[in-house]
Amino acid sequence: MMNKTAGIHMLKAKNQAWEHILEIARRVHSETPALSTFAPWPTDITIAPQAVPQEQPETAINAVKAYGASHPLIKAVQDHADDLVWKQSYRDDDLGRDFMDHYGYIELFGPDGMFISHQCRGFIGYWGAGLIYPMHQHAAEEIYLVLEGSVTFEGQDQAPMLYRKGQTRRHSAYEPHAMRIGEKGFMTFALWRGKDMAQPPRLMV
Ligand code: ZN
Repeated sequence: MMNKTAGIHMLKAKNQAWEHILEIARRVHSETPALSTFAPWPTDITIAPQAVPQEQPETAINAVKAYGASHPLIKAVQDHADDLVWKQSYRDDDLGRDFMDHYGYIELFGPDGMFISHQCRGFIGYWGAGLIYPMHQHAAEEIYLVLEGSVTFEGQDQAPMLYRKGQTRRHSAYEPHAMRIGEKGFMTFALWRGKDMAQPPRLMV
């Protein structure tokens, strides 16, 4: 059994790791005009008093840790990957085991995030090389910043477009979009805003 002092130290270390990631994300936000134009940095952020859930996507987390990247936000996430709250919006039978083993995200801040905000949601997401994320949509408006790797976005009425490190891509509410992940995988810092931003994405197949 863990004694109380050790437990407090572990919690403090975890909170510091979360604060560290949040601070780097805030810097990326302020240094990326497309992001700060999309939504101001939330002013209502509080740390969520939640434990890391028992069920975490271990294979996907290991893939994130092994991902070759130099971006400081990715490095911070990799360094503390075991202390973060990882999520997947789908189940195995939606997109298949291979997809689920190479995909995952943290909701850094948002209505259900590691930090709570009701103004905006901020995600850091990973998709492995060659994955195809089929056409989907959601109520929230969205912006992706490519932190590492590349992705080709497809919409319904436009030609597919390739995005690389440092580029951003926006989607309006309910705008259908699909993603083809490049050969070096893809990691993103993404924001959601608007009414119903707590609603999850839905596949259109
Ligand atoms: Zn989206």
